[in-house]
Parts: sequence; C-alpha cells; structure tokens
Amino acid sequence: MKLHDLVFEPYINEDEINKAIDKISNLLNNDYKNETPVFLSVLNGSFMFSSEIMKKFNSDCSIQFVKLSSYEGTSSSGEVQELIGLNETLAGKNVVILEDIVDTGNTLKKLDRILKEKNVKSYKIASLFLKPAVYKGTIPIDYIGIEIPDEFIVGYGLDYDDLGRNLTSVYRLKS
Ligand code: 5GP
Ligand code: MG
Repeated sequence: MKLHDLVFEPYINEDEINKAIDKISNLLNNDYKNETPVFLSVLNGSFMFSSEIMKKFNSDCSIQFVKLSSYEGTSSSGEVQELIGLNETLAGKNVVILEDIVDTGNTLKKLDRILKEKNVKSYKIASLFLKPAVYKGTIPIDYIGIEIPDEFIVGYGLDYDDLGRNLTSVYRLKS
C-alpha cells in the first residue's frame, strides 16, 4: 500500500484494534460510572478512537476537542503546537484524554500544562497505541490499548502527511 512516496504493509488488523478498544471501554465504564467524565479528544489522529470510546460509554459523558500537532512527515518535530485550543470550561471536571498514540510524550506534557491551568478535578489518559521504547515522559498513561515498537504507523485515524486516516486497520512503514 502506498501513501505519497512511501510503502506501508499491514500490521494490526481491525479485530485487534476492536479488542483493545473494548478493553479500554470496559475499564472506563467501570471507573467513571458515577462521574460524568469529559472526554478530551486530541485531534486530528484520535477522532476514530474517540468516536468508538464515546459510543461504548454507558452513562452520562461529554466530549471536547483540542487540536495539537507535533509530527512532521514520519517523525516528531519535538515542538507541540496548539492549533485549536480549549475554550469551554473544564474547571472541576473529571477529564479523560483520548490520544491516538503516545510517542515521545511531548504532546502529553503540553496537555498536562494546559489542564493544570484549567483547574480540572482530575484527569487520566487513554491512548490507543503506545511506543514504550520511545516514551520518555513521567506522566502515567492510565489506559493503554496496544504497545508497539518504534515504528511509524498509519491508519485508524493516523496519517502520513494527511493521507491514510480513513484506513480501518493499521499499517506500518515498510523498511
Ligand atoms: P508525541 O508528542 O508523544 O511524540 O507524539 C504524539 C503525536 O504524534 C500523536 O498524537 C500522533 O499524532 C503523532 N505520532 C506519533 N507516532 C506516530 C506514528 O507512528 N504514526 C503517526 N501517523 N503519527 C504518530
Ligand atoms: Mg495525535
């Protein structure tokens, strides 16, 4: 499969993705059943994951969006830009950050700063994918879907220069 100039190969199928999401959903349903959480979806990559988590949540909840960007092509630029900020109030809320993938952790560090300024009551992090070998942060990731090695993946919301987000399974860069 080709996107722009690069070739990708099948890596994680829909079944595995659905299982990972079910696992996270079950935990969230249990941990937040009396809490009315605010899901904070980190755009663009986590729109598909966020939609599934929201559909599978069984009690009252709401959703907000923030748009952050750190990736250029196939690697992290090290700098996180806030492209669309949060304008609704989050003070006193129990927030669950929904991330597509945690890589270096720069995005989480930025979100941590943003949420502390907003005086949230609590926040936890759910990420569909994690690259444990690359993550150098100290912020705990409370709900992890699938751990992967340091590889560049696309699909299920994740892009390579804007393409590939519509793929229903995940592909990795072919070496
Ligand atoms: P971090 O700030 O943790 O380094 O990176 C987080 C963001 O970078 C993710 O939310 C995602 O948008 C992007 N990213 C990290 N790894 C990958 C990857 O393997 N593939 C794609 N498409 N994006 C990634
Ligand atoms: Mg992202």
